Amino acid sequence: MPYSEYELNYIFDKTGGRCIHCRKKLGWSNYGIVGARGAWEVDHSKAVARGGTDYLRNLIPSCIPCNRAKGSQSSRQYNESIFLETIYKHPHRFPELFQRKKRRKAKATFGLEVADANKVLSMPSVIGACVGSVRPKSAAALAGLKAGDIIFEVNGIPIIAAVDLETMLKSMKKGSVVSLVVQRGFIKLKFIAVV
Ligand SMILES: [Zn+2]
Repeated sequence: MPYSEYELNYIFDKTGGRCIHCRKKLGWSNYGIVGARGAWEVDHSKAVARGGTDYLRNLIPSCIPCNRAKGSQSSRQYNESIFLETIYKHPHRFPELFQRKKRRKAKATFGLEVADANKVLSMPSVIGACVGSVRPKSAAALAGLKAGDIIFEVNGIPIIAAVDLETMLKSMKKGSVVSLVVQRGFIKLKFIAVV
């Protein structure tokens, strides 16, 4: 059945000009030209043999190889049969499948190792996280923290043990501004860090 240009346009745009099955980009002007780049045809979402109609809502664009290979299978059966194979061969055609990975939040990193201050100092009454080492150029190093510092307050919240600091940093987004209160020897210092 021949389709008007309006109908073809409408069908083509349903998938943004991609084959409904393999997502390959279709060449608008190569409609029905077997062997041409992006050659495509109108496919029936529900096959005519299975009672599918010629209404626009049942019509979808398909590249010619897919449309021919599909034969009398339903679109769904055919899609399932080629889906994994296509993803494997052409992952770039399925950007939406891989977006989650890209969107994953960047973790805040501070760049220091800490231990429970009471254990390091063998003084059960001392609270805080004692800095063991500071990675050069890390957020902690840029803020001015040094090995031996005892962090006992972050953003106004007391840090009783090393695990408190780790838990707090894990919950922060990258780029967060953190204020720390630190004991260095007998002096109490305040630091601002961008994690
Ligand atoms: Zn295709």
